[in-house]
Amino acid sequence: MSYLDEIKTLENLDKQYVWHPFTQMKDWIGENPIIITEGRDCFVKDACGKWYLDGVSSIWVNIHGHRKKEIDDAIKEQLDKIAHSTLLGLGNIPSIRLAERIINLTDKSFAGSTPRLSKVFYSDNGSTAVEAALKMAFQYWIHRGVKGKQTFLSLKNAYHGDTIGAVSVGGIDIFHEVFGPLLFKAYKVPSPYCYRCERGKTCHECSLSCLKEMENVLEKNSHEIAAVIIEPIVQAAGGMIVWPEGYLKGVSELCDKYNVLLIADEVATGFGRTGKMFACEHENIVPDIMCLSKGITNGYMPLAVTLATDEIYNAFLGEFKEMKTFFHGHSYTGNPLACAAAIASIDLFEKEKTLENMQPKIALLEDKLKEIADLPNVGNVRSKGLIAGIELVKDKATKEPYPWEEKIGWKVAYKAREEGVLIRPLGNVIVIMPPLSINIENLNRLMDVIKKAIIAVNS
Ligand SMILES: *Cc1c(COP(=O)(O)O)cnc(C)c1O
Repeated sequence: MSYLDEIKTLENLDKQYVWHPFTQMKDWIGENPIIITEGRDCFVKDACGKWYLDGVSSIWVNIHGHRKKEIDDAIKEQLDKIAHSTLLGLGNIPSIRLAERIINLTDKSFAGSTPRLSKVFYSDNGSTAVEAALKMAFQYWIHRGVKGKQTFLSLKNAYHGDTIGAVSVGGIDIFHEVFGPLLFKAYKVPSPYCYRCERGKTCHECSLSCLKEMENVLEKNSHEIAAVIIEPIVQAAGGMIVWPEGYLKGVSELCDKYNVLLIADEVATGFGRTGKMFACEHENIVPDIMCLSKGITNGYMPLAVTLATDEIYNAFLGEFKEMKTFFHGHSYTGNPLACAAAIASIDLFEKEKTLENMQPKIALLEDKLKEIADLPNVGNVRSKGLIAGIELVKDKATKEPYPWEEKIGWKVAYKAREEGVLIRPLGNVIVIMPPLSINIENLNRLMDVIKKAIIAVNS
């Protein structure tokens, strides 16, 4: 069989057997799928041998690039010892070492602020990190003897994952509405989406009015609310909605004032994405519970952590028969290979000065976005660190959106693909999320290709 025949066979087998996530398979079957075979730095290669710039960091997980030697080596070294053992009743070395490293990171990021995150609970992905966080917060109040705090407050446009608890606190109707009957009730309040804010002329006014609305709900219902859950600074899957300054701080203050826990879902923003190690650092706030996943292993292995304070952890301590145990866990919890990859990835932040080296790239991204903002069908550009969203609109003056069925975002993505750049839009928002290690030259190219693609689709 020739190599081309082999590729064709693989394509057909994919279409025969694989059900892809968030994908209309009827469309997929009619297309020529890209099958990835290899990666290097911020590039991935398909089965036909064509290289693409990875403009979405393989769905937001890649930090230091593909085939990073230090991480490859760490996994190989661990593989020579053991691939998996469980944390249910046993410990393992990489999970212990990584827990210490993560608490050292948060100690450094949140130095001088309270509370202190001090405990690491492992799971395998962002959704499970959120499920664990919700159950922890729920059970915490029970152990404290506080009755009735049995639901949550979350934001419109929020995305916390696809498991049922995470969807219950989600706020993207197009993903979540159909599952309505399965979900638990949670309070929802608007998020400060400045560009489409109907409550105030400036971002600041939008922010204040959103906080006011949150406060109204808390004032009436905080006795029912275990925690407020948020994606700090950037609501990612909701369309890369970047919050105005002061909003996050405001949320944190409201949680203190009304005695509810704050859960920060840093699954997308953690590990340097926003230009600081954790997004909460931008406003000097510390959550009671924090979820991390996507960037944690540089995209090598599924892994997540839910961090908690002593205050929360201690509430679960008691005699065996008191039933205060946190009854939650997954088979692959604390997987040694994944933890080894994560430790190597954290080491790289120091070795390669990842955060420092991001700064000129952030500046370049912002400059390029300013140029793109002038295009006739671009309504809004927004960014924080190396996350950006470009919101395309049918009418710039009225902000009229493209009908979503028009798949304008995908049209741009397909154009970019022709130029060797992979991006994945969120509806009408073009997403820019390159590996943090991308160099200036490749970032320039990424932005130029995207600009050209937006122009081409509009003409
Ligand atoms: C991606 C994401 C999740 C879900 O993570 P998965 O690993 O896909 O389950 C949760 N929260 C946020 C903020 C995310 O961006």
